[in-house]
Amino acid sequence: MNSLDRLISILSRLPGIGKKSATRIAYSLLVSDRVFVENLGNLIRELPEKIVRCSLCGNYTEEDPCSICSSSERNRKQICIVEQPRDAQIIDATGEYKGLFFVLNGVISPLDGIGPEQLGLNRLKERVDREGITEMIIATNPTVEGDTTSLYLQRLFQGSPVRLSRIATGLPVGGDMEYADQLSVVRALRARQDL
Ligand SMILES: [Zn+2]
Repeated sequence: MNSLDRLISILSRLPGIGKKSATRIAYSLLVSDRVFVENLGNLIRELPEKIVRCSLCGNYTEEDPCSICSSSERNRKQICIVEQPRDAQIIDATGEYKGLFFVLNGVISPLDGIGPEQLGLNRLKERVDREGITEMIIATNPTVEGDTTSLYLQRLFQGSPVRLSRIATGLPVGGDMEYADQLSVVRALRARQDL
């Protein structure tokens, strides 16, 4: 397999990119400006070194702790629990939510061997206690695993003075927050229900 075929084969493994798109991208890179292609290559190569997980919230960041965790302009008494970094990004982009985040990087899924430990829920509990957080907003997806995770959090924080709520999604069950438009996310946040 020559380099061009190898590139097409690798590109087609990316989400949302089939063989056709991969071929189109590879051929367009061949006729692109050399600096552009080199920059693209460097950015991809450096990604695993430069982008790390924030040790406090689990989000992707270039500096640890991340800009949200170290910001003095955020409401440090509020924490929003999301499944994936992109969920935090979507909620943050609405401008509606000014608190902190905790990224689970997954959901409780016994069949896949993912339990509370893998999601760092002890770390979350410690942080909530240590920083005197008063409100926790659960923004897991409305799936079986998302519900299980929400229930587990409810139990974990039972008896603690923290106000616990879950966002109202208004999305079809099983729908990913990724596909929701900003307005829906704002509405879901505003209509969050106390647990
Ligand atoms: Zn952080």
